[in-house]
Amino acid sequence: MTRPANSIKLKTTTALLLAMAILFSSRSDAQSRPPAPKASARPKLVVLLVVDQMRADYVDKFLDQWTGGLKRLVNEGAWFRDAAYPYAATETCVGHATISTGAFPATHGMVANAWWDRKEQKMVTCTSDPDPSVKNIGYAGATPKGADTAWHMAVPSFAEELKFQTSGATRIVTFSLKARAALTMAGHKADAATWFDSGAWVTSTVYGPQPFIEEQSKSHPAKADFGKTWALSLPETAYWYSEKALGAVPPEGWDLSFPHPLRGKSGVSEPDSVFYEQWASSPYADTALTTLAEKAVDALKLGNSTGTDFLAVSYSSVDYVGHEFGPRSREIQDILVRLDKDLGNLFAHLDQKVGRGNYVVALSADHGVVPIPEDMQKTGADAGLLHLPELQEKIDKALEAFKYPKPAIARISGSDIYFAPGVYDKLQHDPAGMQTVLDAALSQPGVAAVYRAEELRDRPATQSPAVQAFAYSYFPGRSGDLFILPKPYWLLDGTPLGKPRAYGTGHGVPYNYDQHVPVLLMGFGIQPGQYFQPITPADIAATFAALCGITLSSRDGHVPAEALKHPAASRTPAEPSQLKSAPPSAAITNP
Ligand SMILES: [Zn+2]
Repeated sequence: MTRPANSIKLKTTTALLLAMAILFSSRSDAQSRPPAPKASARPKLVVLLVVDQMRADYVDKFLDQWTGGLKRLVNEGAWFRDAAYPYAATETCVGHATISTGAFPATHGMVANAWWDRKEQKMVTCTSDPDPSVKNIGYAGATPKGADTAWHMAVPSFAEELKFQTSGATRIVTFSLKARAALTMAGHKADAATWFDSGAWVTSTVYGPQPFIEEQSKSHPAKADFGKTWALSLPETAYWYSEKALGAVPPEGWDLSFPHPLRGKSGVSEPDSVFYEQWASSPYADTALTTLAEKAVDALKLGNSTGTDFLAVSYSSVDYVGHEFGPRSREIQDILVRLDKDLGNLFAHLDQKVGRGNYVVALSADHGVVPIPEDMQKTGADAGLLHLPELQEKIDKALEAFKYPKPAIARISGSDIYFAPGVYDKLQHDPAGMQTVLDAALSQPGVAAVYRAEELRDRPATQSPAVQAFAYSYFPGRSGDLFILPKPYWLLDGTPLGKPRAYGTGHGVPYNYDQHVPVLLMGFGIQPGQYFQPITPADIAATFAALCGITLSSRDGHVPAEALKHPAASRTPAEPSQLKSAPPSAAITNP
């Protein structure tokens, strides 16, 4: 007999006893006394799944080919079809921190994967921790470099708040290939926050190791996938796009078409760094993350303690594959078919160990992706590469006629332009100099607009969606001095002049192809159906908080109330039959 079945039985018995007690108490007693408080039922486990770079339209396009967990989320869950980030910096660290905290980057401060540190005059990653006592530690004997934590995140995560506000019974466990995903989902402290670095699973001293991860790292290391081949999993006629994605830049050792061998550099007999790049760009990495999540449920008995536990997995491989092969590729279609199977297995495991209806799941993405420019140009659309090094040269050159340090620009990172110390302060009192800079920037092919930091501070009321998007991303001290908005379908490209582009495409701007992501909720307290009201991924943490009865500090996220079961119904764990109950009139029945 498994624990979930017991716990459901126990609850049923408690409810029966409570009902009998009320029934047998004298009528006058019942009238004179206030009603006994109801036991507040909460989800036993909150599960957050992030698919890095998953565009919302992948669900619309490929749903019919899925049979596992992605299909189940649509069939049994609430599918938000118009979910989008409202801000400009559509990058990994930013999206994960937004989902995790329920706040926008102007509040949580994770404005990019990396930004220019004005004091140190160098780039810092969003997870770099300057505390000399913090160190990354590796599993299975690995010795990783660096020191990564979520200390840059200016507000606590939902998981941290859950643990803090509910007497600490909560366990927090997160996994990803990327530190910036695992750490932002977890927060400043956690029971386990694990990512992948140079062939090994790692964490840092702030979070500490877990014996079950050590055991899994030793018995099933990533290198066990050396020699495998990623081949198409559906019949060839099922694929939407041509065999070779136009403009794709595959990892070293791979051709433009399937099958893709995981054998490192050609000719090597042992796993090398090229193999680990191939592995990260393959469905095998998703499967490894799923297995780790299942091991966590078993080893820590997640969902079976007195509190509500938190388990999060960010699947990174769709992002690597998307950067290499673009959204219109067989590789994207196939890796989602494989992820659908992994998620089906994960949900089956949770059904068995936690109990169907005792856990709530949210699935979303940290950002979307733009089609590969060469592919987009085929349609006749105005698409291209916005060369950032060229832009930098232009601005520096234009300022030569004025009295500014040379070079005047310290760094361009994504859409953020950072000037050398003192330059921007001076430009703000030098209208001719400022106009020269703006004109130079606007003369670069692909630039649609340039915004100044002072236009974005304090989240000004504005009718301009672009200004609002940059304002939602603006965090003083970390964000740039000027911000470049490219034209639609123009990719910000930082490749040094004269070097070949090392990737197919990217993301990071305030257009719908980068902002529009899936949001799917399923399980405890969720009313199945399709919902078309616009929401943001910040609403996920707000919804989790509502279901768990805790309060978040930020008000950026809102609770999509129509997708929650009636409060009376959501206070008892749902039986499987309840999950299939008729949706309200506001929702459309899922296929
Ligand atoms: Zn990402």
